[in-house]
Amino acid sequence: MYPAFGYHCLMKDYSLKKRVMVTGGAGFLGSHLCERLLADGLEVLCVDNFFTGARKNVEHLLPHPAFELLRHDVTFPLYVEVDEIYNLACPASPVHYQFDPVQTTKTSVMGAINMLGLAKRTKARILQASTSEVYGDPNVHPQPESYWGHVNPIGPRSCYDEGKRCAETLFFDYYRQNAVDIRVVRIFNTSGPRMHPRDGRVVSNFIVQALQGTDITIYGDGRQTRSFCYVDDLIEGMVRMMNNNQQFVGPVNIGNPSEFTMLELANAVLKLTGSSSRLVFAPLPDDDPRQRQPDITLAADKLGWRPTVELERGLKMTIDYFRTLLPR
Ligand code: NAD
Ligand code: UDP
Ligand code: UDP
Repeated sequence: MYPAFGYHCLMKDYSLKKRVMVTGGAGFLGSHLCERLLADGLEVLCVDNFFTGARKNVEHLLPHPAFELLRHDVTFPLYVEVDEIYNLACPASPVHYQFDPVQTTKTSVMGAINMLGLAKRTKARILQASTSEVYGDPNVHPQPESYWGHVNPIGPRSCYDEGKRCAETLFFDYYRQNAVDIRVVRIFNTSGPRMHPRDGRVVSNFIVQALQGTDITIYGDGRQTRSFCYVDDLIEGMVRMMNNNQQFVGPVNIGNPSEFTMLELANAVLKLTGSSSRLVFAPLPDDDPRQRQPDITLAADKLGWRPTVELERGLKMTIDYFRTLLPR
C-alpha cells in the first residue's frame, strides 16, 4: 500500500529505549524526574490525577516525542506496558494530604497494590517514593533505616504516615512473595523550583510570605528541626537507586543531613530575600515531629550518593523561581 516507504516505516521505532512510567509525574518532584529521564534518553509516561500536580508543570515536555501524559488515578487499575515504574503519586504536603485523608490512604495503599500488580505482570522494576514520615516523631536521632519509627496510628498525619508504611510493607511482600524487582527510597524534606505557591510546606510558605511582605508563620516556638534537600540532589539519588543492579532494594534514606530549626530557616529566607516581613507564631499542628535528620551512610556506601547543594544555595534558586512566578 505504501511502496515508497515499505512496511517497516509504518511501525513504531522499536529502539531499545526503556519505557519508564512516573506516577505523580505532574507534581513537584515528579516533573523534575520526568525531565531528568527524558534527558537520559528514556521514554516517559507521566501518570497523574492532577490533585496537587498540574499539567502546567510538564507542559514544556509535551512536544518531546518520547513524552506522554495520562490523566489517571492510581487507586484504579491501569494496564500499560512499561519497563520501569517510579511510584510518586500521593499528596505530600500536610495541608493537602489532610484535606481528604481517606483518599490519601487509598492512594498510598491501593495505588501501591495496582502499581505492584502492574510491575508483577510486566516484570518492570518499581521504585517507591517513601518518606521520612515512616519514622514519625523519632526517638532516635539522626534516623537510620534500621529505626522502626514512632508513629501515631490514629492522628491527623496517620493517613500519610501509615499509608506510606503500608505501601512499604506491600513492596516488601511483593518482593518476597512474587519476586517483584523493587526499590524503596525514604525521602526527607525536599524543596526547589516548581513547588506550588500554595503547597503549604514550610519552604514555599516562608519564601512566598517573604516575597509578598506578609507575616512569616512559624508554627509552635520554631525550635523544631528539619533537614532540607535540594530537588536536583534528590532526583540524582532516586535515579541512582533505581539503576543500581546490585540487588540493593533499600529502604534507603535520601536527604540532606544539614539540620535547621524553623526559626533559622525563616531568618535565612528573610536575609536572602531582603524582606522585612515579621515573624508571627501560630499553634503547632498535632503530632508535628520535633526533629528530623537523615543518616545517609547507606546511600553513600551503596549508591556513592551524597547531596551537593547546601541550604542557602538551594533557597536562592527557589527564591529566584518564586520571584518569576509571583506578581510584584
Ligand atoms: P506533589 O504533591 O507535588 O506531587 C504528588 C503528585 O501526585 C501530584 O502531581 C498529584 O496530583 C499526584 N497524585 C496524588 N494522588 C494521586 C492519585 N490518586 N493518582 C494519581 N496521581 C496522584 O508532592 P511531591 O513533593 O512532588 O511528592 C512526590 C512524592 O514524593 C510523594 O509520594 C511524596 O509522598 C514523596 N515525598 C516527597 C517529599 C518532599 O519533601 N517533597 C518528602 C517525602 C516523600
Ligand atoms: N493491576 C493493574 N495493572 C496490571 C496488573 C494488575 O492495575 O497490569 C492491578 C489489578 O487491579 C490487581 C492489582 O493490580 O487488583 C494487584 O495485582 P495482583 O496480580 O498482585 O493481584 P490479583 O490480580 O491476583 O488480585
Ligand atoms: N511550618 C511552619 N510554618 C509554615 C509551615 C510549616 O512553621 O508555614 C513547620 C511545620 O510545623 C513543621 C515544619 O515547618 O514543623 C515542616 O513542615 P512541612 O509542612 O514543610 O513538612 P513536614 O512537617 O511534613 O516535615
